[in-house]
Order: sequence, then C-alpha cells, then structure tokens
Amino acid sequence: MPRVVVCTWGLDRGALPPGVEEALTLGRGLAEALGAELVLLALGDLPADAQALAARHGARAVERAADPRLAAGEPDALVEALAQCCRASAPRALLFAQTFDARLVAPRLAGRLGAPIVMNVADASLENGRLVVTALAYGGDTRAVYEVAGEGMAILGVSTTAVRAQSAASATTPPLTEVAVQLDAVPERVRIVARAEAKGPRLEDAGIIVSGGRGLGAREHYALIEQLAEALGGLAGASRPIVDDGWVDASRQVGLTGHITRPSLYVAVGISGASQHMAGCSAAKTLVAINSDADAAIFKHARFGIVGDCKQILPELIRAARERRSGGG
Ligand SMILES: Cc1cc2nc3c(=O)[nH]c(=O)nc-3n(C[C@H](O)[C@H](O)[C@H](O)COP(=O)(O)OP(=O)(O)OC[C@H]3O[C@@H](n4cnc5c(N)ncnc54)[C@H](O)[C@@H]3O)c2cc1C
Repeated sequence: MPRVVVCTWGLDRGALPPGVEEALTLGRGLAEALGAELVLLALGDLPADAQALAARHGARAVERAADPRLAAGEPDALVEALAQCCRASAPRALLFAQTFDARLVAPRLAGRLGAPIVMNVADASLENGRLVVTALAYGGDTRAVYEVAGEGMAILGVSTTAVRAQSAASATTPPLTEVAVQLDAVPERVRIVARAEAKGPRLEDAGIIVSGGRGLGAREHYALIEQLAEALGGLAGASRPIVDDGWVDASRQVGLTGHITRPSLYVAVGISGASQHMAGCSAAKTLVAINSDADAAIFKHARFGIVGDCKQILPELIRAARERRSGGG
C-alpha cells in the first residue's frame, strides 16, 4: 500500500511541535486521494500522547527513529535519517510542517534524494492521476499551482497558515514501530549553540491579543500596547517592522513569519493590514483596528474600527478597560 508520511522532530514543552496537526490534516486528505496509509514519523523524542494525536488524525501507524542526535535536532543527522527512512519505505509523499527547522532540512533532503519539493503548501490533491499542489507565493499574496512530475516521492512543506487542523471522524490507536537509522558516519557541520526558549503564555493560545505596529511612532509607545493587553487580560503582539527595529522581542511577532494566532479578540493598533500580517490574525473572531488613516487596508478586515491617533486613543481604552476590570464600569 502506498504511504503518505508526516514527519516531525523536536518537542515543544513536552508535546509534538505546532504545525504537526495541520500537516496530518493535509496528509490525510492526500492519503485518501491516493488510497495510501497515513504515517506519523517522529525523529528523536516521542511524547506520551503522540499515538493518541496520530489516532485523532487518522494515521494508521506511528514510527520513531530514536537516535539522540535526532532528539537534539542536528540538521545533518536529520537529513541523513530521513533519507534512510525514505529509501527504506519509499513513501509517495513526505510532509513537514513548515517550521524554521524544516526549512533547513526539507530542501536538503530533496537535493539528496533527487525528489521534487514544494514549500508553503496550502493544498494537495490528485487530478487525473497527477499530484497537484497549491502553494502560497509572494508572502501569501497569491497562490501557485504545481503539477508534480512522475510517480516518485514528493516532499511538501505544509504552510500552517493556510491549513487549518481538523481531526478525523473515526480513529483507532495506531501501532508504534521503532525504525533503525545509522548515523555514525554523519559529520555534523552546524553546531546548535543555544535554542531560543519560549517561556510564559503563548500568542497561539491567547484569547485576547493587542498588537502594535509602526504607527506607534516610537519604541516607548509600545508600553501602551502592553498596558491595554494586560488590562484586557490578554497578551501583547507586534507587527514585523517593530520587531525588526528591535522595539520588541521576535517572540511577539504576529504574521506569516511570526505566530499564527486565533484569538477571540484581536486589537490591531497602528498596523496597516498587510497580507503577511493578516496571515497571523485573520482567524480572530473579532478584529478591532485603530489607525489614523481611514483608508488603511486593516479596516477591510475589522469588525470595529477607530480612526485616529493611537497615542491619544490607547490611554482612554486602557483607563476604560482597567475600570471595567476593577468593577467600576
Ligand atoms: C516574506 C514576508 C514576510 C513577512 N512577514 C510578516 C509578518 O510575519 N508579520 C508582519 O507584521 N509583517 C510581515 N511582513 C511585512 C509586511 O509586508 C508589512 O510590511 C508589515 O506588516 C507592516 O507593518 P505595519 O503595519 O506595522 O507598518 P506600516 O505598513 O508602516 O503601517 C503603519 C500603519 O500605522 C498607521 N499609523 C501611522 N501613525 C499612526 C498613529 N499615530 N495612530 C494610528 N495609526 C497610525 C498608518 O496609517 C499605517 O496604516 C512580511 C513581509 C514579507 C515580504
């Protein structure tokens, strides 16, 4: 039976990293179209709930290669281990959640195996026996459709922006199989000195987010964003330019190259509404925009809008939110 394999490595707070469920969702649709079995392949550590998660997404098997170098996320070891796994089991498609780490590994694997690769994948289907893949292009502004030549393995980097995780209607717990890989002869050319450690609550999990952008005008005004977020019981986010300018830490960035969020309430302050930012917040239930330009694109997405200078509006909103919190309004 042909196989569609979703592969993952590295744990996030003891769980499989974000994006795996989106990759499994896309993989499941593709496996159904191909008449293939869906497999979750974990390189390195496997959390206790991995089989249950795989079951929820209709995977028929969970496989694990347990070498410690894989758990450490060493790119050369990961590429080699995946190449060995692919040579041994010849999947029809190998899917990654397109994380920063996957960007380092997937294209090199494709080069090593001479396999076609499509990144930023939003959809994959079978049309007249051909694998047809839709991918985001130009930072998400448009989509490109590729027809993958041949019957061999294709590698797909799944955009977690474009695919929404959906679990399968019925599922049984898939068996776990250990897979042997031989990595002794693989020299590691890139040494990971330190990994950024995510602490505290995550933007992805937040119910309320207040984000600031370049319209704040100066680094010190970001304190207003933090104060409003706190008064509303939410988290503070940011657009990319103010991260690039060093006003706030990169862990605050919302958007295509930042965090993909799905809060109940998203307040965008001094943010123009570029598609790359919207990719990270358009799934919000209610979006409120504060912008001095009445024609700003953000208002097309907003349910409520305030036109004006955010430096004047924010102190009023903070006061009102604090009063409400303390039961005064
Ligand atoms: C490949 C790629 C990936 C990207 N990834 C991301 C990403 O992940 N996240 C992201 O955010 N961007 C991303 N970008 C950048 C994106 O294209 C935009 O440039 C960025 O989102 C704009 O940020 P901004 O809205 O803060 O700034 P601007 O576009 O400069 O907008 C500032 C807004 O503030 C308003 N304003 C000005 N003064 C005031 C005031 N006093 N009060 C109220 N409003 C005011 C202005 O009217 C304007 O609408 C990416 C771009 C590329 C090419």
